[in-house]
Amino acid sequence: MNTAPPNSVDDQVGDSREEKRTLNFIEQIIEDDLKSGKWDGQVHTRFPPEPNGYLHIGHAKSICLNFGLAERYNGSCNLRFDDTNPTKEEQEYVDSIKEDVRWLGFDWEDREFFASDYFDQLYDWAVQLISDGKAYVCDLDGDQIREYRGTLTEPGKDSPNRNRSVEENLALFQKMRDGEFPDGSRTLRAKIDMASSNVNLRDPVMYRILKAHHHRTGDKWCIYPMYDYAHGQSDALEKITHSICTLEFENHRPLYDWFCEALGIHHPQQIEFSRLNLTYMVMSKRRLLELVKEGRVNGWDDPRMPTISGLRRRGYTPEAVREFCRRVGVTKFDGVTDIVQLENALREDLNERAYRVMAVLRPLKVVIENYPEGQVEELEAVNNPQDESAGTRTVPFAREIYIEREDYMDDAPKKFFRLSVGREVRLRYAYFVTCTKVIKDESGEVVELRCTYDPETKGGNAPDGRKVKGTIHWVSAQHAANAEVRLYDHLFAKEDPDDVEGDADWRSNLNPNSLETLTDCKLEPSLADAAVGVGYQFERTGYFCLDKDSKLGKLVFNRAVSLRDTWAKVK
Ligand code: ATP
Ligand code: MG
Repeated sequence: MNTAPPNSVDDQVGDSREEKRTLNFIEQIIEDDLKSGKWDGQVHTRFPPEPNGYLHIGHAKSICLNFGLAERYNGSCNLRFDDTNPTKEEQEYVDSIKEDVRWLGFDWEDREFFASDYFDQLYDWAVQLISDGKAYVCDLDGDQIREYRGTLTEPGKDSPNRNRSVEENLALFQKMRDGEFPDGSRTLRAKIDMASSNVNLRDPVMYRILKAHHHRTGDKWCIYPMYDYAHGQSDALEKITHSICTLEFENHRPLYDWFCEALGIHHPQQIEFSRLNLTYMVMSKRRLLELVKEGRVNGWDDPRMPTISGLRRRGYTPEAVREFCRRVGVTKFDGVTDIVQLENALREDLNERAYRVMAVLRPLKVVIENYPEGQVEELEAVNNPQDESAGTRTVPFAREIYIEREDYMDDAPKKFFRLSVGREVRLRYAYFVTCTKVIKDESGEVVELRCTYDPETKGGNAPDGRKVKGTIHWVSAQHAANAEVRLYDHLFAKEDPDDVEGDADWRSNLNPNSLETLTDCKLEPSLADAAVGVGYQFERTGYFCLDKDSKLGKLVFNRAVSLRDTWAKVK
């Protein structure tokens, strides 16, 4: 049953949920592998975050892809923390990542791994490569290594230490491990080809000296493997079949292949897909960390952030995020997805599920002069017109109510189907009321309306067949729950935050109006029992959810999304 009005979200995006879809290119590869028996019918993927920040919606795409493929092909997906960089990684991030993956609805069961669990094995393999003449200790510092590396158009130069003997290399590497050299003074490098057209193959660094405390291995190590040396071997150790990553790793693949071949170990197939980018948003963890550290947002879970924790706090449901990721699809082409697509996925999900309630965001008091003082009626209200099984509730009606300030206008134009002196509207679930008088303060601001109601119109219909065009929402003044409501706009004012003038940086495009806090909102009393994580439709103003800042006696709600994409009309 679709009772959505015309021009609703459903009409804008179409219901694609039941569309039959063709296989994406990764599924195609997997199905071919299953047919040819390449991996003995196994599908084993992994999601490999670095615990150096909170996950964002781009990671959600990768999570849905990796766990989704495992689900679809009866395989399994590991959660692996790529924790090779102790200076940037923290337990807090590990915990948040687990919470977010779980919240999205995925389960890694007992397959929780850390690259740091493999440090001993990686070290032994490094010794093996040295013994085979495939790795050497290099005395160049970081700047020199960069200088020797050459450019995209010029080959690199051999390190002066490239032809050290195996014995000398073994001894030096042992000393590196024993902490005998200062940070950054030596590295272990793979001996591949300084003239390779692929810069990643120009004797890449495998280990660096870093006397840093690691959040899991403590002070056991003072040399740490580089990501590129650890990543492929971690896949190999976990017997990953399809190692899925984003496009920027395409030209690292020959290096991962080289390591696996040189070591003679299991060799997963790496497949690259394009990253998710959103309009009006930045997605790099480095930038998100800067926003947090510089206090430009209120933490990683600020509802304006593209982090999974931010989306959750904002009122996103896991279903909406998963559906969005499904619709975005998997391709090899870099692009930017309109943030409206994300918002629409939430609108559609909450349209089906959210209870409709009445809440007044900018209250204007109305006294219904002919309604008996002290009388209260409990009026029946429908919880969700999309879902009859959601049933009904009652809302109290009394002589003094609040309506939205913008539902009254002096000298209103004809098409203004709300209140003005002499005009009649329907109060949702209640009665027809006619405005008889407006009260203003000295500055001319409207502070109160006087109305009369027609007792014959209970439930919203007149027995004489008289019609009113407008229906507005309201809340009984004496029963209202007070609340703070936070309205959000895009975090960035420009579609592309990198579109800056002159020397300005991306921060200059932060939207100064991305958060509007309304402190005097009036909610129907049923919302006093709202729970965090449940979305409500406040009639006519959007989808909202309770914020974790709520305390006893102080409700705080976030607007997750407005009812419609207002930008679509503006553009
Ligand atoms: P960032 O560039 O934001 O710092 P990252 O790639 O360094 O992200 P990781 O923790 O290494 O972050 O990412 C874990 C996994 O998520 C990787 O497989 C990565 O390819 C994937 N991923 C990260 N960002 C996106 C994105 N925007 N779209 C799709 N997948 C992503
Ligand atoms: Mg990464």
